Amino acid sequence: MKKVVVLLLCFILLGCTKNYYKELGYDSKTVKKIESLKDNNQVFFSEYNENLTNIINNEDFIEDNLKTYVLFVDLLDCDTVIRLVNNKTLGEFNLNRINEIINDQNYDENHLEEYLKYYPRTSESLLIKLINNDRMDEYPLIAKLASDKGFVEDNVDIYLKHIEEKETIRELIEYINSKAYLPPYENEEKADTDKYGYLVLVNKYYKLAEDYKPDDLVEVESNYGRGFLRKEAYEAYKKMQDDAEKEGLSMYITSPYRSYDTQYKLYNYYLSIDPQDIVDTYSARPGNSEHQLGLAVDILSPGYDFGNFYQTKEAEWLKENAYKYGFIFRYPEDKVDITGYKFEPWHYRYVGKIAKDIYDSGLTYDEYFEKYIK
Ligand SMILES: [Zn+2]
Repeated sequence: MKKVVVLLLCFILLGCTKNYYKELGYDSKTVKKIESLKDNNQVFFSEYNENLTNIINNEDFIEDNLKTYVLFVDLLDCDTVIRLVNNKTLGEFNLNRINEIINDQNYDENHLEEYLKYYPRTSESLLIKLINNDRMDEYPLIAKLASDKGFVEDNVDIYLKHIEEKETIRELIEYINSKAYLPPYENEEKADTDKYGYLVLVNKYYKLAEDYKPDDLVEVESNYGRGFLRKEAYEAYKKMQDDAEKEGLSMYITSPYRSYDTQYKLYNYYLSIDPQDIVDTYSARPGNSEHQLGLAVDILSPGYDFGNFYQTKEAEWLKENAYKYGFIFRYPEDKVDITGYKFEPWHYRYVGKIAKDIYDSGLTYDEYFEKYIK
């Protein structure tokens, strides 16, 4: 359909309106109708439009609605425009919505009024799916889910299936988004370092290849601890430790990069001490450790060990400041159900600048990755 441009005319078309519309191609009946409008010199059509002709000549045409009809003339057929504008379902404020609705792959014109009836606290596409499938009785609950910051449309049915298992919507969404509702180590996906770079997620659902080893590992200098880290992560760490020291704090890296092989030996060593379900709460299985990325560090303070580091000023400082250097606190005390690991105040993961967004979101990386990165 040709585009119709409406301009407000403040000059002298008056005498020549008739010829003007005729020349555009409007038939004499329509021209006559336009002529009869009380403000015919204010609505100005720059092109011929058949749908507009039909609207103007429709028996339910209301002159006061002309400007609104014209807004939708390229989007909807004549009868729909007349009906929806006349009964005030469609107004200027609907212009963006209607575009989204009619361009949705599941749009069904028979349901248009229903789509418009419900304001999308969800998204238009979700609303359309629910209406098409006659599921609007679930809408109040789904709209509530959709108001959560982590809501992912594709997960709607999984949220509903598990809704009884969590007390709050936030907990439910976190539980589903992070995949924590699935049994760990089953049907694992590949932790794709090529695709995600510094942002790759490694947990009990994403596994690194046995032979994955970063090619830019650098050795940690003795005043910063020991071991190897990827270059960018190491530079960021040094700045972080330097700044912490300026504030009178003292810290060092105790465990950075670990190869698959090292992780394998470590995990098996723990298995000789504890049953597997216990080991899985504090040690990653080989291929499931962030340490293999060369982007994770275990940080301690002199005189403290993993058992009491949480009591230090350093642990407190890291929690509040590490994101400024690109590191995120990976295994918080209150997210054990989500991360699958017990509280590890010493373990930080480098992600780069995005660390601030993750910190601000208050989400675990397991959830953040699924919602914003993947
Ligand atoms: Zn660690």
